[in-house]
Amino acid sequence: MTSLDSFVGKTRIAYFSMEIAIIPEMHTYSGGLGVLAGDTARSCADLNLPMVFLTLLSREGYLRQEIGIDGGQIEHPDPWKPELWAEPLGAMISVRIEERDVWIKPWLRLLRSPNGNEVPVLLLDTRLDENLPEDRDITDRLYGAGEEYRLKQEIVLGVGGARILDALGFGIETFHLNEGHAALLAAELLRRHPHRNGHGSTAAVTFDVGRIRDRCVFTTHTPVEAGHDKFSYELVQRLLGNDFLPIDAFRAVGGTDRLNMTCLALHLSGFVNGVARSHGDTARRMFPAFDVRDITNGVHAASWVHPALGKIFDVVAPGWGHEPELLINADRLNDVDVWSAHETAKAELIALVAERAGRRLDPALPILGFARRMTGYKRPDLIFTNLERLRAIARRQPFQLVMAGKAHPQDEGGKQLIVAIHRHMRELEHDITVAFVPNYDLSVARTLVAGADVWLNTPMPPMEASGTSGMKAALNGVLNLSVLDGWWSEGCIEGETGWAVGEPGAGPDSHAASLFDKLEETVLPLFREDRARWTWMMKEAISKLGSRFNSQRMMRRYASEAYLR
Ligand SMILES: *Cc1c(COP(=O)(O)O)cnc(C)c1O
Repeated sequence: MTSLDSFVGKTRIAYFSMEIAIIPEMHTYSGGLGVLAGDTARSCADLNLPMVFLTLLSREGYLRQEIGIDGGQIEHPDPWKPELWAEPLGAMISVRIEERDVWIKPWLRLLRSPNGNEVPVLLLDTRLDENLPEDRDITDRLYGAGEEYRLKQEIVLGVGGARILDALGFGIETFHLNEGHAALLAAELLRRHPHRNGHGSTAAVTFDVGRIRDRCVFTTHTPVEAGHDKFSYELVQRLLGNDFLPIDAFRAVGGTDRLNMTCLALHLSGFVNGVARSHGDTARRMFPAFDVRDITNGVHAASWVHPALGKIFDVVAPGWGHEPELLINADRLNDVDVWSAHETAKAELIALVAERAGRRLDPALPILGFARRMTGYKRPDLIFTNLERLRAIARRQPFQLVMAGKAHPQDEGGKQLIVAIHRHMRELEHDITVAFVPNYDLSVARTLVAGADVWLNTPMPPMEASGTSGMKAALNGVLNLSVLDGWWSEGCIEGETGWAVGEPGAGPDSHAASLFDKLEETVLPLFREDRARWTWMMKEAISKLGSRFNSQRMMRRYASEAYLR
């Protein structure tokens, strides 16, 4: 426990997230939400914010993706070895689930900033001899199947997490709930502040909601109602029993029909925010009774900038890693240096694609990158809407496409999209090189967002709450070609920092045609014919987007507006 001692006394804020991407070797994340939590922690370390991070250990990981010969996703468990990457701590606490004590122990991983500061990440584990066999796997599988399993995980994260912090001696003042998964944390805090009205056994118990709101911050990431975790009160009562919180108290703050974790978090948090300006607008429409703010996401610049670019940033913007605002100076970069650093990053992507996808790419031709969770609203198939048109464009102005992304095991539509992409790949075989890199993760992402020439994103508005991979691309001078949703509504300066797909306000049906037009008339000709203008745009993207859409700016805003409110 010695390595934790120095943090216990000074830490004031605890950040709870179902997933946190710490390093590629620790399979404690599935995608954007976890990568955001990881970048949040990395910026906290840089800025020396007094925070501790909590998540589940997820020994079995999320999923390792393989692509079958039919082009379908094959899912494997993705275990990792906690003993290699984290340190078990001696503390142990329990929560009651189904009238059994479920014991929880934390593991500790310190996340270190280049400037030497560290933040602790606690990873909760139920695989203990003290537990019955059926309770040992609760923390094993990230987003494992079944609502009962999910609720057990949320009990361990929220309730268990709060108790672990107490057991370790932390004196936390502010709790940050990253998405609704951690909402039971607020319920656990509420439970600790009962008022008894009247006397005797009939006395009604109420709870001091105001006191909890003073201490809780809630960030929502889900712009659709169907995406919010909901559990039947029958299940809640069966798992949590009657001693945790009376069901009536839950109903008062968590919804009358079902326990809605977003509703619970909204009622119990005094600061609530969406993750981009447009997502804030959506959330304000969804939750008119609440004062919802917005803090636009950012990415950890020092972690996402390719070393070859980082080296030239050091010249015009020394200290950019700690203070990415300095990247505003990137417009002073030398064009030859920028292009040569980009070629280095591009060569690494080409090598990765050869190794993992068996496709040979031509370094002289533009590479379009598209990598994200494979699911309906992200529309990874939009570019395949009109194969004839796509072929015609490529015949005159050849380009290449690299794709990657996992589908959630329960998302049948997402899995069908992966099959469809592979079918289109075969259909286009003689005209356009399309490569699919299996098992999209932190390290694949790092290579893709730096080595592509154009970063493509075509979500169905308003479903992309923020999106962050485009920010990583921009930091590397990779130009975004994206639908105006999430962060890109704030970042896009047409023809300068990148390009929009679809006119502002035009319906989603127009997006495919707009994508083809932009590629044919603007993006591909510029790449072929005007390298000077292209390089200027790369520098504008780094300067205007990199200086702004980073997690240092994001965390300074959370610190001043949410934590110190
Ligand atoms: C950045 C990142 C994401 C999120 O990307 P979006 O653009 O928000 O979809 C998902 N997965 C990995 C591995 C990432 O690095």
